[in-house]
Amino acid sequence: MHSIIIVGASLAGLSAARALRAGGFAGDLTVVGAEQHRPYDRPPLTKDYLRGSCSTADLALETDDDLDARWLLGAPATSLDARSRRVGLADGRTIAADGVVLATGADAVPHPLVPVGPTVHTLRTVTDAERLRADLGPGRRLVIVGAGFIGTEIAASAVALGADVTLLAQDAVPLRRQLGAPIGDFLAAEHRAHGVRVIAPTRVVDVDRDAGGTTATALRLADGTVLPADVVVVGIGSRAATGWLAGSGLRLAADGGVLCDATGRALHGRGGGAVAGARDEMEAGVAPGVVAVGDCAAWWDGYRGVHHRLEHWTGAVERAGVVADVLLAAPGRSARAPYFWSDQYDLRLQVAGVVAGHDELRIEEGGLADRSFLARYYRAGEPVAVLGVNQPKLFTRARRALGAGPTADPASRAAATTSNVVAGTGTALAS
Ligand SMILES: Cc1cc2nc3c(=O)[nH]c(=O)nc-3n(C[C@H](O)[C@H](O)[C@H](O)COP(=O)(O)OP(=O)(O)OC[C@H]3O[C@@H](n4cnc5c(N)ncnc54)[C@H](O)[C@@H]3O)c2cc1C
Repeated sequence: MHSIIIVGASLAGLSAARALRAGGFAGDLTVVGAEQHRPYDRPPLTKDYLRGSCSTADLALETDDDLDARWLLGAPATSLDARSRRVGLADGRTIAADGVVLATGADAVPHPLVPVGPTVHTLRTVTDAERLRADLGPGRRLVIVGAGFIGTEIAASAVALGADVTLLAQDAVPLRRQLGAPIGDFLAAEHRAHGVRVIAPTRVVDVDRDAGGTTATALRLADGTVLPADVVVVGIGSRAATGWLAGSGLRLAADGGVLCDATGRALHGRGGGAVAGARDEMEAGVAPGVVAVGDCAAWWDGYRGVHHRLEHWTGAVERAGVVADVLLAAPGRSARAPYFWSDQYDLRLQVAGVVAGHDELRIEEGGLADRSFLARYYRAGEPVAVLGVNQPKLFTRARRALGAGPTADPASRAAATTSNVVAGTGTALAS
């Protein structure tokens, strides 16, 4: 491998570049980025950066890296031929290499009734965050459509800025899918205690606009409620930023994710059209020299039996090491159990493992009323994930005990399980 192109100049792309150089790759390295910015960190965009307590300089991801890479910024890739590994750029250039890392992340899903406009925002980039911050302030009526992590974190930051916040959840329990109903209820109560109006379940059915017709002034809900709004944020999920891969020969999932094997090798198939993430995709061939990592990549998860995108900071960094090993044909690292965190008010949530599909949730240390606890998720009696709320030390220990977690092969899973069983009387909660 003499040359590698990384498409996407953010966390996963930078991490891949670092891992390739650390793995001994001495050839030509080109990083292509759609944004003009050098790689920057996104988690603060809903938190410190939105509240104005950190600067743009604080977001920088690069340290004193000496990656000896060619950076083509402000130059979105528009096409890929997976067979020849040729990448077309918006400025008309075509570049080619022995290896290609796809790391183009994701875009916010637009709301069909509430398109981004003068008062309507999504939040994915530093530019989005600056625009939203300029629109927030004391007394501003903010309505957030979507109560996932982006929506709930923005709610907490907007409260700190003095905004009058309403949070709309499609599900009866916000974050139920991500964390289970008891934790979702706990978080909804936290938001209400901080003055957020949480409306769940609900959905937007119409939008009122000003006389010019361009500016949303109120949202209408299914039950007839009319919510006047100075500012609206739409946080209803993301879609892999892979529109540019149409015709590449790669296989894409329904949410745009690049279908990969369990080590990030991209799968090719006829036409690269959308396919359901079914097991038989594993039978399909991989595109030699093409890997995908970060929010755009739908790796095969043998434990869950699906391809899915892992949209977490730590996954983007760790899995970049896995794809570097693949490209360098080095002894392979494998994917670790997923990990992510969320900060809301003075709560730090940390989650490791796979929450989806759990059938039992036990609070094993502390309690919800203390706002500080450790919870473990079980499936058929086996621990599959752990959540810490304001419990960094206990969480770190529990995460270690979870080991490679349920994504690991059955043998190492069994070993992790035996060291995992918690003695004592945990509180079991229906989930
Ligand atoms: C607001 C926000 C808050 C978050 N908070 C947390 C958190 O608290 N905890 C946590 O664990 N995770 C959090 N995350 C998730 C984490 O930041 C992401 O998982 C991580 O940024 C993924 O990195 P990535 O490089 O794959 O994608 P991205 O960071 O999205 O970067 C992809 C890059 O590729 C570029 N690109 C797109 N298309 C093209 C193209 N055609 N050509 C060239 N370049 C292209 C994009 O412009 C972008 O710069 C948050 C994410 C966001 C957006």
